[in-house]
Amino acid sequence: MKEAKLYGKVRDKVVCQLCWRFCKIGEGERGFCRTRLVRKGKLYTLTYGNLSAIESRPMEIKPFFHFKPGKTTLTFSTYSCNLECPWCQNWQISKIDPPLVYREIPPEELVRKAEIFGDIGLCASFNEPTLLFEYLLDAFKLAKSKGMVNTMVSNGFMTPMALKMLRDSGLDAINIDVKGNEETYERFCGGKAKFVWRIAEKAIKMGIHVEIVNLIVTDVNDDEEVIREVVENHLKHVGERVPLHFTRYHPAYLFGNPPTPVRTLEKAVEIAKRMGVEFVYVGNVPGHEYENTFCPNCGELLIRRFHFEVIENKIRDGKCPECGYEIFGVF
Ligand code: SF4
Repeated sequence: MKEAKLYGKVRDKVVCQLCWRFCKIGEGERGFCRTRLVRKGKLYTLTYGNLSAIESRPMEIKPFFHFKPGKTTLTFSTYSCNLECPWCQNWQISKIDPPLVYREIPPEELVRKAEIFGDIGLCASFNEPTLLFEYLLDAFKLAKSKGMVNTMVSNGFMTPMALKMLRDSGLDAINIDVKGNEETYERFCGGKAKFVWRIAEKAIKMGIHVEIVNLIVTDVNDDEEVIREVVENHLKHVGERVPLHFTRYHPAYLFGNPPTPVRTLEKAVEIAKRMGVEFVYVGNVPGHEYENTFCPNCGELLIRRFHFEVIENKIRDGKCPECGYEIFGVF
C-alpha cells in the first residue's frame, strides 16, 4: 500500500481531499470509493499499480475526436468509482472493491508496454481514473519524460488540487463525462454537476485539452430541457469551441430502460448546434453522419470516421483546407 498524497486531519478522522466527497474516514475504515484506507492515522491507496485492464485503444473510442485523431494510447484502469450511476456501462470493474492480493504493475512496465505497442501515450479510463491518482502522478511523469502524451476519461468529480497535480505531472487531455443537470446527479449518481463543470473550466484554464461527453439515458436525462441545460453549462464553462459528444446508452448494471433512440441523440446534436457549439457528435452509433467533423465556418467535411476509425483527415496545420478556419484541437 502507498500513502495517499491528498489528505488532512480533523480531530480523530482523516479527511480525503482527492474528490469532492471529502470523506471523513476513521481508523481502519475506507472512504466511499473503498479505495482509500486509514491505518495508524495515515491514508493509504489500495489501487497503486492494481490494474483491472491494460489495452491499446484508439483515441476515437474515448472519445477524443480533436486530440491526435487516428492514434492509439495504452489504456488502463483500476477498480471502483466515487459516483453511483445505476446504468454504469463499465460496472464489472467500477462496482467492485480493489482486490487486496494482486501483482503490482510498476509505471515503468506500463510505459514500456506503450512503447512496444506503438502507442503515443497513456490513457487512464474505464472505471473512474481519479482513484488511481498516486499511480497516475508517477506514470504520467515517466511517460512525459519519454515524449508521450497523457490522457484521462473521467467523471470530473476530482478536487481542483488533484487536477493541478495531474497537470503538473503531465496530463495533456481529459474527457469529462457530464451526467446531465443537477437533478440527474441528485437522483441517480451522487455528486454535483456544478463541481464537475468547475473542474472542466479549470482544466481549460490550465491548458489541458478538454472534450465533454453526455451519455443520454432513456427517461433519465433525455428531456430537451435537460439537454439545453447541459449545453448552456457547456457554453458557460468551456465555451463553444470544445467538442461535445452525446453518446448512446445501452441497458447495463441495475438499469433496464431501453437503449437511447438514435433520433433523441440527433435532436440533442441539433439543439447544441443551434445554441452555438461548434463541434457536436453522436457516439455509440457506428456509421452515423454525426460521427464526422465538419468545418463550422464553411461546412467542409474535415474528418470522416467510421465508429472508432478515422477514414480520412483533411485538416492541415490545424486548419480547414478550404477556408483556413482554425479547428480546435491538437492534430
Ligand atoms: S476519493 Fe474516495 S475516499 Fe477520497 S473523498 Fe473521494 S470517495 Fe472519499
